[in-house]
Amino acid sequence: MILEARDLELSFGATPALRGAALQIKAGEVLAIMGPSGSGKSTLLHCLAGILVPSSGEVWFDGTRLDTLSEEKRSALRRDRFGFVFQFGQLVPELTAVENVALPLLLAGVRRAAAVKQAEPWFERLGLEGLGNRRSGELSGGQAQRVALARGLVTGPEVLFADEPTGALDSLTGEQVMDLLVDNAREHGTTVILVTHEARVAAYADREVVVRDGRVNSPVLAP
Ligand code: ADP
Ligand code: ADP
Repeated sequence: MILEARDLELSFGATPALRGAALQIKAGEVLAIMGPSGSGKSTLLHCLAGILVPSSGEVWFDGTRLDTLSEEKRSALRRDRFGFVFQFGQLVPELTAVENVALPLLLAGVRRAAAVKQAEPWFERLGLEGLGNRRSGELSGGQAQRVALARGLVTGPEVLFADEPTGALDSLTGEQVMDLLVDNAREHGTTVILVTHEARVAAYADREVVVRDGRVNSPVLAP
């Protein structure tokens, strides 16, 4: 088990988002979290990733309890061991594509030249040849999302968290992004936690769970 959520509760003001959510995730697994809008999928993902802290319950990652770590330690752990891809790439538009991909490496203290060198192979790997020096604000939606995927994978994360990674794309472009995401994750044994409301996207996963009213339908792994 690489990640586990136990009985998570979290409310935003008077709005409950998680109400006893539990989930176990095996190393190397590609897991899809499905469920209706507003059911708590993103909140669960953010708790598993150490972005949000539940008001009660526990989150465990590889033997470390995440929810009781200081913000500083959670932030370092996210930076060193997790990768992120969100719905709207969230690239820095003024930076070039290669600078965007290199960003997590720079934040981890890698020097600029080395970071750019490490970012470059991702352009060929993800079918983005020749686009490294393009400002990311000038990329198409599909190109931008592949750059965001490269940025999520460039540090070699143990877990890739993807929140509606194809939500802003047409279905063909979305499939291309999902093919690349899953192929690259499997090649490196990366665990993938994918939030989606699209069955077509969830079909890429080894396992699907459904979140409803802040709870997960079948949280426990078979032995
Ligand atoms: P999903 O990802 O399944 O659409 P979310 O986890 O985003 O669901 O949201 C769960 C519930 O928490 C919803 O009722 C949503 O409106 C609420 N919520 C989520 N984030 C916030 C926030 N930052 N402030 C207030 N309410 C929020
Ligand atoms: P939603 O799930 O509502 O669509 P997003 O998934 O796009 O929202 O964004 C989730 C939140 O997590 C954003 O506020 C974003 O700033 C934050 N976030 C994204 N990446 C990281 C990270 N590596 N560390 C901490 N917070 C992050």
